[in-house]
Amino acid sequence: MTRKPQKPPLPKGSPDWLTAGMDHVWLPYTQMAVEDPPLAVVGAEGVRIRLADGRELLDGMASWWTACHGYNPPSIVQAVQRQAETLSHVMFGGLAHEPALTLARRLAHIAPGDLAHVFFSDSGSVAVEVALKMALQYWVNQGARGRTRFLCFRGGYHGDTFGAMAVSDAEHGFHRVFADALADNLMVDLPRDKPALAAYQETLATQGDTIAGVIVEPLVQGGGGMLFHDAQVLGLAVAEAQSRGIPVIADEIFTGFGRLGHMLACDAAGVVPDIMCLSKALTGGVLGLGATIARPHIFDAFAGPDLDAAFMHGPTFMANPIACAAANSSLDLFDGEPRLAQAAQMEGLLEAGLHPCRSLPGVADVRTMGALGVVELEDLPFERLIALRRAFIEAGLWVRPFGRIVYLTPALVMEEGDVEHLCNGVCLSLRGN
Ligand SMILES: *Cc1c(COP(=O)(O)O)cnc(C)c1O
Repeated sequence: MTRKPQKPPLPKGSPDWLTAGMDHVWLPYTQMAVEDPPLAVVGAEGVRIRLADGRELLDGMASWWTACHGYNPPSIVQAVQRQAETLSHVMFGGLAHEPALTLARRLAHIAPGDLAHVFFSDSGSVAVEVALKMALQYWVNQGARGRTRFLCFRGGYHGDTFGAMAVSDAEHGFHRVFADALADNLMVDLPRDKPALAAYQETLATQGDTIAGVIVEPLVQGGGGMLFHDAQVLGLAVAEAQSRGIPVIADEIFTGFGRLGHMLACDAAGVVPDIMCLSKALTGGVLGLGATIARPHIFDAFAGPDLDAAFMHGPTFMANPIACAAANSSLDLFDGEPRLAQAAQMEGLLEAGLHPCRSLPGVADVRTMGALGVVELEDLPFERLIALRRAFIEAGLWVRPFGRIVYLTPALVMEEGDVEHLCNGVCLSLRGN
């Protein structure tokens, strides 16, 4: 037997951590052979990211819209520190702790209607997997066989794990390469007009008894291209399914926590889904946490003497106390500070700031909703995407387009002058490229 050669010990605290480490990390959605290496970050505060070379970037996307209060909000940092000292983690099977149980109560309180039963996980994709499994087992527990498919909408994005990919739009999204390996679900257009509504109704009527649930991103389809629909369309999508007894899953992972000017997008539309998914800004962007919330009729379908009827899921780090403490502290900020008013006010600032982009060549559309601003380009070939990313950094901004979409999801606390500066920078960079 040959022995593995001994590796020399690693030097500690290498000043060259970026280049040395880059031989060993694998980056998300990145063609590492040709894309620029990542920027070295040494800190972040408020709405600014500090780089190792001393530069500061004004952050236009709040780290995939998680950092809704800006970076390192002192009260959340303190809550995290306190929680880490008393109970950083304990398994959630057979043991309970105050941060999680308080958070469950508070989430049930902010959720619309009678959504009341919270299942915790550690990310958005897993919150979606949990919702899909809840809907599947809801039917199995009632003795209904053959309801194994989901109905989802073109343009949707629900995460990167297999179940979530299978309800996302592979053609418009990021998952084309995996399409052949995904579960065979049904995809239709959102009922934006009469023909689309008729097609949706037809699918529900003819395939309804094979469908376990309908999943939708309320008001904005994020990862699929920041596509907007209005409250009436969402209302129709929800009502048509619910009137046939098919559970509706609302994926509020993008839209939740004030992003669109309401605490939840479902509030704006007055709809009550049967299951709701939350993550992203749930902890104020400090730690990963997911929550899947069900209404009583879903929850009750799992109760009874049959042990196999219990919900069959349980992530190791579910309901992590530090993450739950961060989420409780973030909700305190929503309670005590005018976050929703700030988000609503930002809509006007983004609209005014991005307006000059409308007349630029190559711009297909400019749209805003709450604290979300979108500049959709006619196309964005790879070379131009790379050039644009560099231009934003040179302008002192952190904005990272995807597909044909340049989007702004700033922290809800970003001040007027910074929003103006951000929008100006975006318009100038687009004009120069
Ligand atoms: C980001 C996102 C997800 C996936 O969340 P992760 O934490 O990245 O797994 C799911 N649904 C929507 C709408 C999202 O925006």
